[in-house]
Amino acid sequence: MNVRTVNAAQPLSESEKNVALDCVSAMLTARTLDASLQGVLRTVGEYYRADRVYTMMLVENRHALVMTFEWTGAGKCSIQQVVSGTQMERFPLLKKCMEERAPVFLSRQEPIDLDGGEKEKRPWYFSAFPLIREREVEGFLCIENAREHPEDAALFGTLIPFMVMQRERFNTEERPTGTMEQLMGLPDLRAYTQTVYTLTSEYYTSMGAVCIDIPHFGAVNSSHGFEYGSKMLWYTAKTLTDLFGGALLFRTGEAEFIVFYPNTTREVFLGRCGRLRSILQRRYPKQVRIGRAWAEGVFSGKRLTVEAKAAMRAEAAALAGEEPFPLQPEDYSSVAEATRAGRFVLYYQPQIDMRTGALAGAEALVRAVADDGSVAMPARFIEFLEEDGSIRDLDLYVLEQALAQAERWRAAGYGTPSLAVNISRITLAHPSTLASLLAIQSRFPGIPAEALELEVTERGDRIKTDEFREIVDRFRACGLHISLDDFGSQYANLSLFTNVKFETVKLDRSLIAELGANPINRALVRDLVQICRAYGITCVAEGVETEEQVAALRDMGCIYAQGFYYGRPVPAEEFEKTYLRNAAEQKTISKEERI
Ligand code: C2E
Ligand code: MG
Ligand code: MG
Repeated sequence: MNVRTVNAAQPLSESEKNVALDCVSAMLTARTLDASLQGVLRTVGEYYRADRVYTMMLVENRHALVMTFEWTGAGKCSIQQVVSGTQMERFPLLKKCMEERAPVFLSRQEPIDLDGGEKEKRPWYFSAFPLIREREVEGFLCIENAREHPEDAALFGTLIPFMVMQRERFNTEERPTGTMEQLMGLPDLRAYTQTVYTLTSEYYTSMGAVCIDIPHFGAVNSSHGFEYGSKMLWYTAKTLTDLFGGALLFRTGEAEFIVFYPNTTREVFLGRCGRLRSILQRRYPKQVRIGRAWAEGVFSGKRLTVEAKAAMRAEAAALAGEEPFPLQPEDYSSVAEATRAGRFVLYYQPQIDMRTGALAGAEALVRAVADDGSVAMPARFIEFLEEDGSIRDLDLYVLEQALAQAERWRAAGYGTPSLAVNISRITLAHPSTLASLLAIQSRFPGIPAEALELEVTERGDRIKTDEFREIVDRFRACGLHISLDDFGSQYANLSLFTNVKFETVKLDRSLIAELGANPINRALVRDLVQICRAYGITCVAEGVETEEQVAALRDMGCIYAQGFYYGRPVPAEEFEKTYLRNAAEQKTISKEERI
């Protein structure tokens, strides 16, 4: 028999990296501790082709053990009942693991019964890894009889801190039992799209619609905890169901719901809306946006949705003390006209190499300008344009303007700054977008393809990875670069990393804002930066506002940053004056030094 401790602090092999990614991805997307850890145990078990993988936790003043989670290989029975409650003395190997606070590894020859009554000795392996939280060993991760890679331990250096964090993540508050699953089962955006066309005056005499949204839900999750966010979603869905019935309730976004209430009177509908508002405002003051619309006569569900959403935004703006913007939503309906009238202009925000402070590129961000000269941020109109489909016109316009600007800067001797342009996922999915992009690009032959990045946002776990990969691959084949924007704003969907080849990943500012205060975020950002390095993806931190964030990010090996600390989005002339004239001696400004 051979017992020894092993070193888990070795670099990961390629296959271990993939396993680590699958595990971390399973943990981040799981809604329960059970799903999270079972996902990890299964992935680990399959990788090692083990008999069993399980976690044991120390109880009774560290004198006994219980098996908390267990995965068993094909044909192996569970030993959870048998083992749980056993005294620590019975596990000398785990005792050694606890005392030395290091993984232990055992191999021995085990007699196996062969056909015909003969016995043969075969190697049998067992490894145990300590689960350490706040310097205390609180339990073990055990792998029984790994048939493949029996001596690989490096994986666990990466995984265990995440596993320990999972317990914290799910342990904060008591969970409303069975309700998350209920919430997850709500009809989604796809179901809404399929149903909304039937919600017309042809089939119903009247219809009320209510839209609810929790703005900055990613930030709510990071500041109050995942559990709080999940409960908030559940409570909102439950209140809507209680008041309007669940038949036409849809969860159309990560934190967005739409409910329709057909064949009733206006008074009843308004009465229920009033109750809804008072219930939600009492529990979540100022955290939830609500909008409603009502119709009799001729109506369509789609139009009601647009009206309910518009009412929701208008109310939120009024609450925030904003003047109603003089450019009305109707004005955006013809983007072509608005662009001709010069209503949309581009601002540019610098992206900086944190090692040197030098300019590495710029992101073009659209603004709408009203007749009186006031400027509106994209949050106030992008959603409208996405709803009525005209976002594609805007995106193509912005791309053309940005390339024209890049060409002017190139001609003026400033080189070709790497330019990022935002593309809505609606635009990306449109069948003729690729041809339109290439046609626009061909009008600017002086701008190299590598100098352009198309930013697409991650929308939580609703993203369809396969569809995304297929589109990105097609675009890449034509020399276009796609970056993943706002990564981590909802749930960091790590399978995107392994399945879709992005040139750049932009870490959402909610992750960066929490760097100082939230150790889970810090660990997540550190890992994301490392994963980017390992896969040759450029990583840009967004929303960098303080020197401390710069220091922390640099320490983690992140090179590029975009944020108010370095500069706000500014009009082209100001960008040129502030950033390009200084860097004029640099021939090409780019993030080409990939790591
Ligand atoms: P984004 O692409 O993630 O752009 C970054 C946003 O973060 C910008 O907001 C920028 O002003 C803001 N930001 C940058 N640094 C900081 C910081 O340090 N702190 C804080 N608090 N904010 C910072 P903006 O310009 O309001 O744009 C919002 C979003 O609108 C963009 O997010 C993008 O998703 C969308 N958008 C902008 N232009 C376009 C466009 O032409 N087409 C499409 N489809 N979407 C666009
Ligand atoms: Mg962007
Ligand atoms: Mg972003």
